[in-house]
Amino acid sequence: MEETIFTKIRDGKIPSVTLYKDEQCFVIMDINPIIKGHCLVIADKPYKNIGECPQSVLNHMMEVAKKMDAKLRDVLHCDGTNVMINNDPASGQEVPHLHIHVIPRYTNDGRKFGFAHDKYEEGEMVKLGERLCLG
Ligand code: AMP
Repeated sequence: MEETIFTKIRDGKIPSVTLYKDEQCFVIMDINPIIKGHCLVIADKPYKNIGECPQSVLNHMMEVAKKMDAKLRDVLHCDGTNVMINNDPASGQEVPHLHIHVIPRYTNDGRKFGFAHDKYEEGEMVKLGERLCLG
């Protein structure tokens, strides 16, 4: 597996503020936070996306993200969090090494993610829904 900026952090080659570490993942403070306290739950191995990541590891990472959410609420008294994964470069992923962002949010903090919205033609959503059904 390739070296990434996060494997370098994992291996202590680049400094970080590490909040947690176990065999499957580790948590660091994001160096360029959307809001202070923004942290990253990073897979120990550099899976590029959720498809490459074993389900058990992904489940564990989400458990750790849940604990980080609780910690941020407890310590920073944030009102909510964004828990999100940029999954491959097309989605905005800059570091090709699976990680979950946990970002503290406050009521009326003024941050907007700024996605433009698409619009379905008549009947298009139902048709597409039929193709996307998980069964
Ligand atoms: P993404 O765009 O989802 O790949 O997010 C990558 C995140 O990694 C960004 O929010 C960066 O600010 C963060 N990041 C990049 N380099 C470092 C670093 N050396 N230490 C901490 N966070 C970093």
